Amino acid sequence: MSILDKLTALLPADQISTQADHLSVASHDESTLNAVSPLAIVWATSTAEIADIVHLCLEEKTPITTRGAGSALEGSTIPSANGIVLDVSRMTQVINFWPDDLQVRVQPGIIYDHLNEYLKREGLFFPPSPGGSGDVATIGGMISTNASGIYSVKYGGTREYVLELEVITGSGETLKIGNRAVKRSSGYNLVDLIAGSEGTLAIITAATIKVAGLPEGRLQSAFKFSTEVDAARAVSEICKYGLDLAAIEFLDRKVIEALNHLKNYGLEEVPALFLEFHGPQAVLDSNSALAASICEDLGGQVLKLADGQRPWEIRHHATDAVKLRRPGYTIVRNDVAFPISRLPEIVEYCHFLSGEHDLPIFTFGHVGLGLLHALILANRENVSEWQRALDVSDMIIKKTIECEGTISGEHGIGLGHKNLFELEHGRSVELMRRIKRQFDPHHILNPGKIFDM
Ligand SMILES: Cc1cc2nc3c(=O)[nH]c(=O)nc-3n(C[C@H](O)[C@H](O)[C@H](O)COP(=O)(O)OP(=O)(O)OC[C@H]3O[C@@H](n4cnc5c(N)ncnc54)[C@H](O)[C@@H]3O)c2cc1C
Repeated sequence: MSILDKLTALLPADQISTQADHLSVASHDESTLNAVSPLAIVWATSTAEIADIVHLCLEEKTPITTRGAGSALEGSTIPSANGIVLDVSRMTQVINFWPDDLQVRVQPGIIYDHLNEYLKREGLFFPPSPGGSGDVATIGGMISTNASGIYSVKYGGTREYVLELEVITGSGETLKIGNRAVKRSSGYNLVDLIAGSEGTLAIITAATIKVAGLPEGRLQSAFKFSTEVDAARAVSEICKYGLDLAAIEFLDRKVIEALNHLKNYGLEEVPALFLEFHGPQAVLDSNSALAASICEDLGGQVLKLADGQRPWEIRHHATDAVKLRRPGYTIVRNDVAFPISRLPEIVEYCHFLSGEHDLPIFTFGHVGLGLLHALILANRENVSEWQRALDVSDMIIKKTIECEGTISGEHGIGLGHKNLFELEHGRSVELMRRIKRQFDPHHILNPGKIFDM
């Protein structure tokens, strides 16, 4: 019997498909990398079912790519041609909720926004919002990519919230790792190892995560600067003052231009910082006044938004706005991260490369975390221009590594940035390979992602 026959015998008819339209959806994520059609897609509904699927795939050495919403941006959800896609998006239950402990246990397919809707009744929320994909991204996918968002400046990324996981390894073993203690000094931290491993070590079948109290109040403000470097310099200064800063986002003038073009916002086309503070009113008032005076000392001014305009609604459209700047062109993206004091140097370098290589580069991101997206627009049909854009993206990554940073602050390595992974991690990649063999001896879990074996 082939793997397809075995899976068909195992699963109800509505949980397996080889239909072209289903395979087409399962063949890609939100990256611009080439799609790969799998042998089949299966929709799991329980841990036991996933264990059975893994055992069958082990017998046949069939690759498994686990899929939440498929919103990943670096190809980590693109399957192998000889493999299956294990879709967990039907596993959406809240298994347990302990509001007094600020903890919740969920199935992996629950969507970020849906979880927050659920938590709201107790005045709680799960903070590491993945911004523009919060309405689709699953908690399993967020853990597997260690996703973060605008509020990660104050609250941290997804990994910081994961306490306990139920996982199935590549050898078909179901394990509970971690526990509900918030602070522990008890052996190796396997939970942190799985978080960010892009489905290459184990399949997450349940997760216990911390949540946080909704802030008493929020205040948003925006500042404009005459140059990108001035705005970038202000970030480190603002962060130094111990303000209760929940978010600090940078948008260069090209991004603001693109946003005006997309939505007619009428924003002044200058580099900007968007800030949000959390806390009681007195803290909001004093913190925002202090931030304003720091920005003014550095040549910044308050950026007035029109009535009804909200900074995060505007920021939310940044990627779409860039895409529309040159219809038919494709984005070459990266999401580098580095110590915040290096932000001015990296922003300046991106803008230098843009002029030097005659390519539009748009920079923005969660800069309070030292995280910058540099999106390059290029014509994929024009082979030399496309290659130039890929080369420029690599130059930005190399510069980041020189600045003691990382290739990816939040999107992962997937297939998109494998080529430079050894440059960042050196000989420790060999140790990672050994770890992978322990979890997945037959190399069936999302093979080819992050690094080659
Ligand atoms: C418009 C837009 C905006 C975005 N903004 C952000 C942002 O601000 N911050 C950010 O961090 N990301 C962002 N992303 C990227 C993406 O949304 C996140 O990486 C998200 O966490 C992926 O969730 P998902 O459910 O779509 O995962 P998928 O794409 O389905 O999977 C991602 C990876 O996790 C693995 N995986 C999924 N579920 C499991 C599981 N149960 N067990 C083991 N492995 C699993 C997959 O195999 C794959 O390797 C954005 C994407 C888009 C399209």
